[in-house]
This record gives sequence, structure tokens and C-alpha cells, in this order.
Amino acid sequence: MGTVGCGRLPGKLAGGAATMGGMATVVAFHAHPDDEVLATGGTLARLAAEGHRVVIVVASDGWMGARTEPGASTRLDELRASAAVLGAARVEHLGYADSGTGPVLFPDPPDRQRFVRADIDEAAERLAALIRAEHADVLLSYDAQGGYGHRDHVRVHAVGARAAELTGVRVFEATAPREYVRVVFSALRALRLVVRHQPAEIRTWGTPRAAITLRVNVRRYARQKQAALAAHRSVVQGTGRLARLMRLLLALPVPVFGLVLGREWFIEAGAATSGTAGCDARAWSTKRHGRPPRGSAGGRAASPPVGERA
Ligand SMILES: [Zn+2]
Repeated sequence: MGTVGCGRLPGKLAGGAATMGGMATVVAFHAHPDDEVLATGGTLARLAAEGHRVVIVVASDGWMGARTEPGASTRLDELRASAAVLGAARVEHLGYADSGTGPVLFPDPPDRQRFVRADIDEAAERLAALIRAEHADVLLSYDAQGGYGHRDHVRVHAVGARAAELTGVRVFEATAPREYVRVVFSALRALRLVVRHQPAEIRTWGTPRAAITLRVNVRRYARQKQAALAAHRSVVQGTGRLARLMRLLLALPVPVFGLVLGREWFIEAGAATSGTAGCDARAWSTKRHGRPPRGSAGGRAASPPVGERA
């Protein structure tokens, strides 16, 4: 029961025509391990807690070099730990390497292609095969800027959109209100936690608030979201500014973390918008299910282990 004009999820999620006990399957498509947390982690935890099947797919394993290098699987391992905290039932990697940031796009490692060089149709077909196998109802992807313009994130948008065309699945694109992004990044620049991106660039990030079709309140899932972030140890323990920002977020008391990161936003192409100030995403969760969430592949209960640090 979203507000009029807000994005709605298909009947199974919205509590309409109930098949499979009213549960739906959501495939969350991300660029790298750790991306699943900040933009969608609360939503995924909430969906899983409410009985829906959550599948996380990453395009890239977050590794620049060959798969045979020591540590090459670290970030996928961290993603699996994060996914367990969020209650996801399955994690898959599409098989691509990280394309990295900065002006230089390095050659491909010997055993796989960087995601930004992936043929869009080929990558979309890999994703579509998973969507079909899962009989997914919803695909979560990224907005056209890929949130903040990372080349792999922009590619996620293109590949997600193509996979949606191939399968007919509904696609909701993670984003954030442009007005909010501007305020947050101005503060981060003032604190010198962001230096690489210039104000003119930051002004293009996110989506104007009036164009956002779905806002999800995830404050009740702040603990899981923070614990999932902590699971990405190699990122958190890094030396860069991003790592410092991550450590700051992890040091926040859970209620404060929930105030800062307790909302997540999506746009659905073609969905009606009518000003979205009151648009909360009860549509994600109107149906309470009498049966427990589907277990993971290993038979473990899919409900998020609240408070657990992976
Ligand atoms: Zn990323």
C-alpha cells in the first residue's frame, strides 16, 4: 500500500496475488562486493526478514588481478559474510574483474575481462539466466549515473536495463535524492573525506527528489546494515579515505547509524511520480507471512542474525 503515485512492487511483494505463500524473489545486481550494503543493504535485510527470497549478484569480484593471486577471493568471501548478515539466500558472481577507478583503465587480467569492457548483451544474458532460473519478480539495479559515476556502476545500469528487457522482470534502480547527496558530499568534502570528486560532478549524482518513486525506511535494520558493512573487512581496514569513512560509519551507535543510513531510494522506469515526500515503501512489506522465510541453500534459516558481526 504505497502512497498514490509511488512505485509499487508486483502483487506478490505488495500483498496482492499470493503465490508461493506470498513470497517474492528479488535479485539485487551490484557492481562490486560491498556495494550491496550502502545503497540497498537495509532493503535486502527487510525483504529477507519479511520472508522474501533475496539473491545478490555481483558483476565483478572486486579484484583487479588474476584469480590465482593470493587474496583474490577475499572480497567475494566478505560479500558472502555480508549476505549472511542481511539474510540473502544466494550470492553469485557474473565472472568479471573490477575495472578500477581513476583515469587509467588497465588491461584485462589474464583470466577474465574487466566489467566495463563486457559486452552489454553478453553480460545481460548471464544476468538474465539467473533471473529466469530464480523466477525473479524484481531486479534491483542502479540509476543511470551508477550512483556516483564509477565506470562499473554505470555499466550495472546498462546491463540491468538490458536484462530487464530480456526477461520482463520489473526493475527498481537504487539511487538517492540529488538534493540530499549534495548536502552529504559537501560535508564530506569539508571533512576531507572526499577529495577526488568536484562539486560540479557531485551535482549530477543521484536523482531529483521529485523523480524518485520508492523510498524504503530501513531504520529497523540499521544493526544488520552496519554489521554487513563490517563484514567487508578488507575495505574497512584499507588506508584510503573511503576506508576512513567506513570506519566512521562503523563507530556510530546503531541508532545514529540508522539516522544517517536509514533510508534507501529507488526509481522505477515508467512509474508514476507525483512528488514523493510521503512515499514510503510499505509496498515492500505489506504482507506478513505465517510461514518462516525460505532457508538458504544450506538449509540455514534466512532471517538475519541480528547483531551478529560477520
Ligand atoms: Zn562499487
